[in-house]
Amino acid sequence: MTRQRRIILDALESVRTHPTAEDIYRMVRPRLQRLSLATVYRNLEVLCEQGLARKIETAGTTRRYDGDASEHYHVRCLGCGAIGDVRKAPVSVSRTGLARATDFQIVGHRLEFLGYCPSCKGRRRRGARDAPARRRSGGGDV
Ligand SMILES: [Zn+2]
Ligand SMILES: [Zn+2]
Repeated sequence: MTRQRRIILDALESVRTHPTAEDIYRMVRPRLQRLSLATVYRNLEVLCEQGLARKIETAGTTRRYDGDASEHYHVRCLGCGAIGDVRKAPVSVSRTGLARATDFQIVGHRLEFLGYCPSCKGRRRRGARDAPARRRSGGGDV
């Protein structure tokens, strides 16, 4: 592993915010002055291929990265886009059930929970009387 990639991985592992490539770029800039954003992207891709980091892909939003490559799910705030970790999801997915419901051979799944983070939850509660709740559908594929 190159020194550059090590620093990028350290930065990614030091936060629980699931940062974007630009966030990481800003974090490592002081230490790697000649680094370009494209290089950050490339290094992140390699780290994901090596299984040291994970990509969080959500339709319509900037790709985020996770320094915690262990098995876990995510919850995304519909207000501010914050992403939190869900260690254990109270959901079980039956591959045989899914295989019966589709012609596809199922090799994995992606699951994302949607909601409001603590600060957006409070803001919504305060604003609930004036503003009608905004509803958005969407999110994870099975
Ligand atoms: Zn929020
Ligand atoms: Zn995570």
